[in-house]
Amino acid sequence: MALDFLSQQKGEDMRNKAVKRKFGKGARKCIRCGGFHGIVRKYGLMYCRRCFREVASNLGFHKYS
Ligand SMILES: [Zn+2]
Repeated sequence: MALDFLSQQKGEDMRNKAVKRKFGKGARKCIRCGGFHGIVRKYGLMYCRRCFREVASNLGFHKYS
């Protein structure tokens, strides 16, 4: 991955700073739990898939099947 390659080149000082990513998986996180995995960006939501499941019904999403 290109970003990882870059951070390795910069060495220690990159590690001490908070990583600000413009794109990629780390660019956004769940606004509810702060997790990075499975973020749902659809409809402008910023929840991970787990929080989305819990919040979705409150927002008016309904499960089919
Ligand atoms: Zn979450």
